[in-house]
Amino acid sequence: MAERVPIREGTFQEGPDGGVLLANKCTSCGQLFFPKAKLCLACLHEDLDEAPLGRKGTLYSYTIAHMPSSFFPPPHAMGYVDLPEGLRVFAPLKIVDDKPFDVGMEMEVVIEKIWEFEGKELMGYVFKPV
Ligand SMILES: [Zn+2]
Repeated sequence: MAERVPIREGTFQEGPDGGVLLANKCTSCGQLFFPKAKLCLACLHEDLDEAPLGRKGTLYSYTIAHMPSSFFPPPHAMGYVDLPEGLRVFAPLKIVDDKPFDVGMEMEVVIEKIWEFEGKELMGYVFKPV
């Protein structure tokens, strides 16, 4: 089995129920950041704690690309998902034939292989319709 490598260390965590995205939260003002920030962009405090996010959100906007890219065969989709914590996450979207994208629909994060590189499976997060 190929080695599995996260596209970026500390961005998500796999668990028995699937995966969660990992944000960080300012210990002073409580502002959340995803991707994680090195310091709080709201109050400049430098102390932030890791904060797992909820697995489900709602689709804010999306686009489906029909041009081939270096890594993704067409069609592939990208979009913004609003999470209950108040974060809007930009992410690849999984196209599910019998669940066409619809703004406001419920989406769920899944951790899966994004592409293969030098014999390794690069793992990342995508949102799919629930
Ligand atoms: Zn802060």
